[in-house]
Amino acid sequence: MANKITTSSLGYPRIGRNREWKKLLEAFWGGKINEAVFRTEMAGLQLQHLKTQQEAGITLIPVNDFTFYDHVLDTAAMFGIIPPRYGYDGGEVSLDLYFAMARGNTEATACEMTKWFNTNYHYIVPEIGEQNPSLTANKPLAAYRFAKEQAGIEGKPVIIGLYTFLKLSKGFPAADIQSVAERFMPVYVQLLQELQQEGVSWVQIDEPAVVTGLTTEDTTLLESIYSRIAVEVPGLKLLLQTYFEAAEPLEALLKLPVQGIGLDFVHDGGANLESVRQLGWPEEKWLFAGIIDGRNIWRSDADAKLELVSDLSTHVPASRLVLQPSCSLLHVPVSVQSEDRLKSSVKNALAFADEKLAELSLIAAAAGDEQGSYAAALAESREALARFRALPERGRRDVAEQVRALEQLPDSRSLPYAERLKVQREKWQLPLLPTTTIGSFPQTAEVRQARLKWRKGVWNQERYDGFVREQIEGAIAFQEELGLDVLVHGEFERTDMVEFFGEKLAGYLFTKGGWVQSYGSRCVKPPVIYADVAFIEPMTVKESVYAQSLTKLPVKGMLTGPVTILNWSFVRDDLSREEVAKQIALALRQEVQALEQAGIEMIQVDEPAIREGLPLKAEDHEHYLNWAVRSFRIATNPVKATTQIHTHMCYSDFNDMIGSISAMDADVISIETSRSHGELIASFEAQEYDKGIGLGVYDIHSPRVPEVKEMAVSIERALRVLDAEQFWINPDCGLKTRGWEETEAALRNMVQAAEIIRKEA
Ligand code: GLN
Ligand code: ZN
Repeated sequence: MANKITTSSLGYPRIGRNREWKKLLEAFWGGKINEAVFRTEMAGLQLQHLKTQQEAGITLIPVNDFTFYDHVLDTAAMFGIIPPRYGYDGGEVSLDLYFAMARGNTEATACEMTKWFNTNYHYIVPEIGEQNPSLTANKPLAAYRFAKEQAGIEGKPVIIGLYTFLKLSKGFPAADIQSVAERFMPVYVQLLQELQQEGVSWVQIDEPAVVTGLTTEDTTLLESIYSRIAVEVPGLKLLLQTYFEAAEPLEALLKLPVQGIGLDFVHDGGANLESVRQLGWPEEKWLFAGIIDGRNIWRSDADAKLELVSDLSTHVPASRLVLQPSCSLLHVPVSVQSEDRLKSSVKNALAFADEKLAELSLIAAAAGDEQGSYAAALAESREALARFRALPERGRRDVAEQVRALEQLPDSRSLPYAERLKVQREKWQLPLLPTTTIGSFPQTAEVRQARLKWRKGVWNQERYDGFVREQIEGAIAFQEELGLDVLVHGEFERTDMVEFFGEKLAGYLFTKGGWVQSYGSRCVKPPVIYADVAFIEPMTVKESVYAQSLTKLPVKGMLTGPVTILNWSFVRDDLSREEVAKQIALALRQEVQALEQAGIEMIQVDEPAIREGLPLKAEDHEHYLNWAVRSFRIATNPVKATTQIHTHMCYSDFNDMIGSISAMDADVISIETSRSHGELIASFEAQEYDKGIGLGVYDIHSPRVPEVKEMAVSIERALRVLDAEQFWINPDCGLKTRGWEETEAALRNMVQAAEIIRKEA
């Protein structure tokens, strides 16, 4: 008799096969459905997700992973952690209040949103002030009852551990974390006691924050939290769940009084397995082993997974081993089923959430199978993978050769910055504090419709190109009239800064339904790098050259950088990210050369996502930054010394990476300066950054038109420390989400602010 190993899942995508979740939210926000309908429909979706997992044969099905917006926000709301500006005075948190925290309302601004570890999911940052936490509702309990009543499922409630919750929150000094934890302990205990009373068996307590590294204080805090819970709630089985990286030191976690530990065996660089081998596994504990990649979209190599399971089985008895995805499936799309446009060799190599659950079930069954009953299913999986791996576009000899040659390529420009600066000043003859923009101009309904008509074949290429040219003409005239010094073509031909390049490079594919939640109802459909990335033909030259032909002022060429293209795509997993970045860098290098040859000698290569790829563990930062910087340099360095390379990064915390930014060796970098009230520029000052800096003097994320004075203050602040000659003046990001009217007003004020400061300087 086959002995299937227990399976578990950490969380299921919320958005639904056809993004029903998003549509419901937006219908509710838009007043198109009332709260009762909204709740009923959401419950239906939730039930469907439970049943899907049940049918996939998953033993431990998560409950409370479903949410109306974000699971961190749920946790804050559940504990009554509502910032005072919302005027909350106790009791259950209404839907209006819940969504006000997520999105703001007329009286109060929204809570801050930030990235969930190294993923593209964004959570709402809890603001813990003086409030005394209380249990406003027991959401996990309600979810547990729902699954039981509606589907007969004995669910496994998922909650965010107190440690991680506090690490992700703001509003208190980090040094006070222990005393803040004390304040929360009673409500956490109450929540768990209610689950215990209900007869819940396992509770999954997510503690991903432990993988970022543990100090002695951290370990003490974890011990105090979990020993208290163990004493107060002895009847629950606690699973302390980690993911996204190795849990180090594992000894510290193994000492905690919990029944199960969840480890990621996919994104741990092999360290978790190594720790298990070295330390052995304590007899009384369960190991929840994350063996299927929950972050990527590829079919698993079943043989390799079975080998891993067999290795783990030598340390943990099968009765205490649970197999699961490496993390919540929140980070992958729902189902491959609708991908009917892909060739079968590619489609069969994909695995989204539903396919991953099927893989998990198969591996769990096959691992305990002595009769070989699963041989056929395994062979099929092996076959699909083999066909995919053998695709010629995945093993291009020309690309491999170019990448090898890359190792010999000089990694610097023909002249060092100080000397380039001289020849560039001579060539460009720009005024002090040159004004420019970041690239895109408003993508109006007209622009989007034109693109749609062209995609649907209603407009032919010629008609569409003509339309784009008209838009460029308008944009050039607009910028000249405003008095900007360096112009852009406006990016009207692009929907998205990564997708646009993906469509023109070899090695990319586009799914029909590969959506994942980014934040709230916003979903993204990352393009997929499935094969070798390579240059096919010039991608941006036509538009840039046309724009330049219309004006005597310089027009910047506009590209997305290699690291951003990589970080905003789903990437093949048979090559390292570093290798793939090299391929992209080489392709972009050819585009840069093509632009230069066509007379475009100021080229901006955007890298807003460079920070996003930063590994979770500090000790891995240097390696990442080294190859990320090198990719950028390879993409941009074949140009003449007089050619000016710009880069742009949106708001992020750069303090710890100014050295790397400088090493990218761009002649000019544009950054945000208004939203951080000069903090960002202060770090450039502190580290004596010597290259050009474009001051992002106003926030394009808001429709508000900034005053001249406001921007002048922001410029003056920067000029106090660094040399005025170093600066450019620009908005803090592209203007594609803005309307023309506000864009014009804001840029007019910006140009005026620059003029005022020039006179003073
Ligand atoms: N050049 C791009 C634009 O202007 C940059 C976008 C970004 O930084 N996210 O839209
Ligand atoms: Zn930006």
